[in-house]
Amino acid sequence: MSETLSQVDVFIIGAGPIGLTCGIEAKMAGLSYLIVEKGCLVNSLYNYPANMTFFSTSEKLEIGNIPFVSVNLKPTRAEALEYYRRAAVHYELNIRLFEEVTEVIRKPDGSFVIQSSKGNYAAKNVIVSTGFYDVPVKLNIPGEDLPKVKHYYKDPHYYAFQNVAVVGASNSSVDAALETYRKSANVTMVIRGSEISHRVKYWVRPDIINRINEGSIKAYFHSSLKEITPSSIIVNTPEGDVTIPNDFVLAMTGYLPDFSFLKNLGVECSVDDVQLPTHDSETMQTNIPHIYLAGVVCGGMNTHSYFIENSRVHAQKIIRHICSERI
Ligand code: FAD
Repeated sequence: MSETLSQVDVFIIGAGPIGLTCGIEAKMAGLSYLIVEKGCLVNSLYNYPANMTFFSTSEKLEIGNIPFVSVNLKPTRAEALEYYRRAAVHYELNIRLFEEVTEVIRKPDGSFVIQSSKGNYAAKNVIVSTGFYDVPVKLNIPGEDLPKVKHYYKDPHYYAFQNVAVVGASNSSVDAALETYRKSANVTMVIRGSEISHRVKYWVRPDIINRINEGSIKAYFHSSLKEITPSSIIVNTPEGDVTIPNDFVLAMTGYLPDFSFLKNLGVECSVDDVQLPTHDSETMQTNIPHIYLAGVVCGGMNTHSYFIENSRVHAQKIIRHICSERI
């Protein structure tokens, strides 16, 4: 095991938009800090669909008072990647990439030793800003492990002239269905509820509803996937089971925070369906003193309750509290 580096005031796990904001706030407060990220810079955003457009206007995604200028009102993924990279450059943020944090050990004096895939660190405070994009919600049906089943959708061209099933009726599902349909895929949507979600971007929802109504995209409502075989899917519908030829399944069934990681840190989660990680909403401190939560990870199973827009403020709350504890 490599040597533990000198202790920082704040160790930040995850270089998503909120982890970066925590780094900026720590730096502006004169604290020593380090951000460690298991993938590339803003890894989740990098892995979003290539052509995605944010539902937020660009100023709502700004961090560190740096203006986010986008060509249109709503920025694209490419613009966001460039923006957050420029923000990291501007603040000369102290970041280590492609290094996964595997364990956080609390020492008797209340400080921490952090183990990563590349080394050990010491810190007085730890901020967990690990997001929710690493653990897909599983269908738990036969055939889910087939290579043709994808929980992440990147680009439509790959699916040209293929029979594609899209599971879900959320923004991700609708974007995937429309994009692949427009690249010559034969698209079937399998939707548990009775309609396309009202959370779907307001300028996209009429498009998908019209495509379904005109029959360009087939949709099974009140339905669920029952089984996936190499060449077909079996859909449980109100009229009974239907077998459909299939080449790819895009299971856009959402993602979860890594609850096992939180549990290993000792962060308690509520025992109800939400599994809300325990934290004080004013300071963002968890039940473990000096371990803080920031960003979308705070919401537990309610992954839609926090997003960049409304969780940038977590960084200020945490750094303010850390500074107040130092006095
Ligand atoms: P993330 O961006 O997920 O960052 C967490 C980081 O932690 C990741 O880079 C991950 O690799 C890293 N990490 C995880 N575990 C470890 C570990 N053990 N060690 C080291 N690193 C680790 N929000 C908006 O406000 N507006 C929008 O328009 C919008 N559009 C969206 C569109 C899509 C398709 C999706 C999926 C989400 C959208 N969101 C939007 C939500 C928004 O992207 C997330 O809320 C946001 O990324 C949360 O930021 P975060 O920093 O908390 O988490």
